[in-house]
Amino acid sequence: MSASEPRPGDHTRAVHGPGLVHTGAMSAPIVRSATFSYDTLGDMMREQEKGPGGAYYQRLGHPTLRATEERLAQLEGAEQALLFPSGMAAISAAFLSQLAAGDHVVALHQSYGGTRELLKWGAERLGWRFDVVDGATPETWAAAFRAETKLFHVESPTNPTLCVVDLRRAAALAHERGASLSVDNTFASPLGQHPLALGADLVCYSATKSIGGHSDLLAGVVAGSAATMRRVWRVRTVFGGTPDPETAWLIERSLKTLALRVERQNANALALARRLAAHPAVVRAYYPGLETHPGHALARAQMQRGFGPVLAFELKGGDAGLEPFVEGLRVFRHAPSLGSVESLAALPVHTSHIHLKPVERTSAGIPAGLVRLSIGIEDEVDLWADLEQALARVAVPT
Ligand SMILES: *Cc1c(COP(=O)(O)O)cnc(C)c1O
Repeated sequence: MSASEPRPGDHTRAVHGPGLVHTGAMSAPIVRSATFSYDTLGDMMREQEKGPGGAYYQRLGHPTLRATEERLAQLEGAEQALLFPSGMAAISAAFLSQLAAGDHVVALHQSYGGTRELLKWGAERLGWRFDVVDGATPETWAAAFRAETKLFHVESPTNPTLCVVDLRRAAALAHERGASLSVDNTFASPLGQHPLALGADLVCYSATKSIGGHSDLLAGVVAGSAATMRRVWRVRTVFGGTPDPETAWLIERSLKTLALRVERQNANALALARRLAAHPAVVRAYYPGLETHPGHALARAQMQRGFGPVLAFELKGGDAGLEPFVEGLRVFRHAPSLGSVESLAALPVHTSHIHLKPVERTSAGIPAGLVRLSIGIEDEVDLWADLEQALARVAVPT
């Protein structure tokens, strides 16, 4: 493609990958080889020098992984991307690439549960320190920064009540204080939001969610500039968190339909959020696409293609309604995770916020009777009929 040709659109790039080079095969070959041999020492050294782009030894880099990493990088607008065997492997590699003993991290109190565990574990075992801030009150963030702050880690929208975090403002603050901004972009997907374009230094994903999209693989991604990713690659090589070629191939296959899935999920989620907000058994629905959501204007400005697959709502019957509701679902499946083609329901009280006492939940902004839904690609009428009949099983206090 010459420089004068227009850059292909997201759908085209998702299907064809970065180069639009025609080799005959429609999909990258799964190279089932952990090590690679060369006729000359010079050839071998040239492959070694390519790092994650070379074919020398799988833990360092592998051609099937690379094909998917290049596809992910171009979707994200990043110079480089690296695959990991899980989202937490990716996020922990991002942290380890930025932090040493004595360094300080600022993160959201709304952070994903696994990330909160990582923050605590690193403070106990690796000698970094951290403070948490509320994603909804950006004016309070600066007070948490110290001279040793090296990393500001955020998500947007957050789990489970979909707080929308101002990524431009987060990047400006981090850079003013000499820190890097990393963004967990799992909820929005690489087609729903581009944190690097808004100023982030690193973007992380659980590819288990929308990127994989079929509830059949566990993987993670980190993307950023070549210089930043060199440090992340070093962590992956040292700790050994390199996935297998089949997982990379499954992700390549999934990326080809990512745009269609995201658009459909987001359209279904908006329609259902509107219907839930108006239902007599529901106190409130949480979805950035609703005009009543406090983050709506910001979400419109920093998200594309809608507002993500996840929404939450509060049952009027409180926690007593949770069991009859989830057990009454027939199309939605009661399971953790999000971003898959199947619609899923999860109860934060029994999943992400299981360790909190009722008073702690209230102070963490998790109301009683909260249900989280991840909306799939099924017919909206079937999803709504399912929610309506399950809601009919929940007693509404008069
Ligand atoms: C699921 C998830 C993770 C962790 O990903 P795994 O693939 O389960 O390791 C991290 N961040 C967010 C926002 C998630 O939803």
